[in-house]
Amino acid sequence: MVGVYAVDDAASVNAAVARARHTAEWWARGTFADRKHVLDQWKGVLTRRMAQLADVVHQETGKPHGDAQLEVGLAIEHLSWAAANAGKVLGRRRVSPGLLMANHAASVEYLPHGVIGVIGPWNYPVYTPMGSIAYALAAGNAVVFKPSELTPGVGAWLADSLTEVLPDQALLQTVVGFGETGEALCRSDIDKLAFTGSTATGKKVMATCAETLTPVLIEAGGKDALLVDEDADVEAAADAAAWGAFSNAGQTCLGVERVYVHEKVHDRFVEELTRRAREVHAGTDADAKFGPMTLPTQVDVVRRHVDDALSRGATAVVGGRDAVDDPFIQPTVLLDVPEDSTAITEETFGPTVTVNKVRDMDEAVRLANGTSYGLGSTVFSKSRGTELARRLRSGMTSVNSVISFAAIPSLPFGGVGDSGFGRIHGPDGLREFSYAKAVARQRMKPAVALTTFDRTPETDTLFATILTVLHGRATQLTKKPLDLDGR
Ligand code: NAD
Repeated sequence: MVGVYAVDDAASVNAAVARARHTAEWWARGTFADRKHVLDQWKGVLTRRMAQLADVVHQETGKPHGDAQLEVGLAIEHLSWAAANAGKVLGRRRVSPGLLMANHAASVEYLPHGVIGVIGPWNYPVYTPMGSIAYALAAGNAVVFKPSELTPGVGAWLADSLTEVLPDQALLQTVVGFGETGEALCRSDIDKLAFTGSTATGKKVMATCAETLTPVLIEAGGKDALLVDEDADVEAAADAAAWGAFSNAGQTCLGVERVYVHEKVHDRFVEELTRRAREVHAGTDADAKFGPMTLPTQVDVVRRHVDDALSRGATAVVGGRDAVDDPFIQPTVLLDVPEDSTAITEETFGPTVTVNKVRDMDEAVRLANGTSYGLGSTVFSKSRGTELARRLRSGMTSVNSVISFAAIPSLPFGGVGDSGFGRIHGPDGLREFSYAKAVARQRMKPAVALTTFDRTPETDTLFATILTVLHGRATQLTKKPLDLDGR
């Protein structure tokens, strides 16, 4: 046992949100520099106590200490970026009012929503929720955070560490509990809910939030593919596939679950991946590269997917049925997996990977895009990396490296389809936790007064003339229709 925490019911969730409301009004009065000052202090605390926080993550999830430290470090990077860039991204700026409204000054700025509810998963219990928490705080909101029931200690630790910097304010509070506590947070007086977790729960969260028209951000599951082109650095691709598939026991939303390899390099890739997969194992010993399955019920999901693939003709070149045990699942590499097998169509969330051969990269793109998910993806190609990346239906793609976009704070993070919508990280992540405020200020009386009952027929004629001059020019009619098919 790692710790004991009291479950928060609806009343205590509502009390936390009421405290947060009070703090949110205070925090919104500050400047971006004020907020940066506080968040930088928090960043210092997190950095100096990185090992302690990583230990709580290790205790609660079972992941190796080094992996826990990696996610804490990346979360600190994001906190630093959000604090440093919030003013530039969200601050008030003038925009052109256009010729028609030239007598006005126009400006836009991004104001905080108020109180943000954050619901997090257990697989990266620091990095993942901090993608919402850091950006929401930097944008001027207060946060009430419900961590996964498997990682309440991490949530409590994060909130306590910020209280040390700001003792008298409820800038970040943690409420602890199961799905019911999350539901209570959705129903409380929050202004927006940021959810990270499974697609199935995301749908429930959205339905609950719909009752009060509370906007939601959904960061859900994935079934990420890695593509290997004929000119790829095959060794590097195999190394990336192994780490992307097996690290954190495959319990990574951005984990590599499917690989599509050009037939010309397929055998060499399989050989390299097999060698690497045999070199790593799950366990608690010092040499273990990854730990146990954190969620016991996930073992059955992995077993079901491996069984389905093998019973329908796939081959396990590493691992297989015997590799799936509770709580440790050993690396499994499945070849020639039917595209309609659950190992290809559903999120496995275990240290397994499918490898299928393709004739060319068009087939690879088509198969990679043939899933309802669209979170991340990876391309290994020397000459066509960016082109292939742009054709993949996923929110993020790494070229010639794996999951690297997640460590670049200025890049938005999020998916399409069953992987959710909305973005954390980067400028989009800051805007996600604010609303656009437009102000049009009249500087002088208009030459043509439009918004008055005193408008005359002469004014209407003048208005029509101005519009015709501005927009009425006949564009050259082309005989050929717009042909985009050949592009
Ligand atoms: P989960 O959906 O089981 O739980 C997520 C959170 O939702 C938990 O805190 C849980 O208590 C809460 N919850 C459960 N029922 C609820 C309800 N009815 N109302 C409100 N809250 C409720 O997910 P998990 O098992 O903790 O995490 C694994 C999943 O998260 C995987 O699918 C993974 O791909 C996904 N994930 C996505 C990202 C991303 O950024 N897209 C990151 C990490 C994990």
